[in-house]
Amino acid sequence: MRRDPLIIGGGPAGCAAAITLARAGHRPTLLERTTGPTDKVCGDFLSLDTILHARSFRVDPAALGAAPIGRVRLIHRDRVAETELPFPAFGLSRRTLDAALLNRARDAGAIVRTGQTVRRLTRDGDAWTIEIAGQDAMSAETVFLATGKHDLRGHARVWTGQGAVGLKTYLTLAPESARKLEGATELTLFPGGYAGMQCVENGRVVLCIAVQQTAFLRYGGAWTGLTEAIGRHSPRFAAMLSGSHPLLHRPLAVAGVPYGYQARPGGLFRLGDQAAVIPSLTGDGMAIALHSGQHAAEAWLANQVASTYQRTLALTLAPQMRLAGWLHRAGISAVVQAASVPLMRFFPALPRLAATRTRLPNPIRPTPIGPPPDPSRPSGRSSPHWAR
Ligand SMILES: Cc1cc2nc3c(=O)[nH]c(=O)nc-3n(C[C@H](O)[C@H](O)[C@H](O)COP(=O)(O)OP(=O)(O)OC[C@H]3O[C@@H](n4cnc5c(N)ncnc54)[C@H](O)[C@@H]3O)c2cc1C
Repeated sequence: MRRDPLIIGGGPAGCAAAITLARAGHRPTLLERTTGPTDKVCGDFLSLDTILHARSFRVDPAALGAAPIGRVRLIHRDRVAETELPFPAFGLSRRTLDAALLNRARDAGAIVRTGQTVRRLTRDGDAWTIEIAGQDAMSAETVFLATGKHDLRGHARVWTGQGAVGLKTYLTLAPESARKLEGATELTLFPGGYAGMQCVENGRVVLCIAVQQTAFLRYGGAWTGLTEAIGRHSPRFAAMLSGSHPLLHRPLAVAGVPYGYQARPGGLFRLGDQAAVIPSLTGDGMAIALHSGQHAAEAWLANQVASTYQRTLALTLAPQMRLAGWLHRAGISAVVQAASVPLMRFFPALPRLAATRTRLPNPIRPTPIGPPPDPSRPSGRSSPHWAR
């Protein structure tokens, strides 16, 4: 008899694992440090794989009010190129999505304990000891590490390279800008990084920026200096933000994002960002998180050891990680940035190809609830199942 796994972290990866295990009749315990719905640094772009995975867990982004996205716009200085996405997508805040997934894990039968911050994880013979702030320690035979962007002491992700800084806020735009943004995701390129903007539920707009750490410091190391610099570089960006109102008291930020990291096989089941960190411009991090959570649970149910799961996952993700890494480096290089908009205008199929190739290759397709989206309708608006 094996004891049910303990999951640390209640983001998409931890929830996917909890739901999959609970559906198979187990009662995993999930520890999440926050006490309720929280905003997270993320562009809130839900790719088709994310949508299908979420729906297979009975979390329907459309029913949660997600904003449909069918087009992608690339902006450099005053140049703009636009093309249709090769798949339907959504904009949905992480506060809403993660809360729905956590509720689903609870409903499925997982023991969800919120407000529990794991401080330390140590191996003691065949068991793990989990130290929790202000609580008694727990022990577990199997641990699923799903703490996302935050490393646990003693189990930090091994990675070399220059980390990026991720920043995010929500806004309401002036009516003209809001109208322009509807149905599209906009990526503005600037020296050292890119800024993504799109609608989410309730008429709000998310602005999320990924910037190399050194460039961020050059911009003054603060949100205002950074957004003003992007606005000076791209008049379109400044015009979009003119008359906007921030909805968060303070922008959210995370430093040292290890783009390109992939976990090596070890004694822990590492899920989501603890398994692989795909560059944000692909908008596929949540799909990887949900896929890896489900995959880890299925591996454990099939009696596989952690290192086998990790090796299989790394192989599955390798092609998309390689291409995404290349696109990320190109996306922040001044030369490629300058060429990117004319290139996209002349070859609109290129960004569509890049978007397709940076998805999960041959993913274990979850069975969607209800009819699947119609790929011939990228905006998804005319399909009642994908409309709001
Ligand atoms: C700038 C930026 C933009 C991005 N934009 C997109 C996008 O548009 N679309 C997309 O698909 N992906 C995007 N991503 C990637 C995406 O955010 C991640 O891949 C995804 O959140 C990973 O999910 P996760 O469950 O592994 O981790 P997380 O979502 O980070 O969840 C981890 C959970 O663990 C909890 N936790 C952490 N430490 C502890 C602890 N010690 N004890 C208990 N609980 C703990 C946290 O509170 C959190 O709830 C972006 C990433 C960045 C940096």
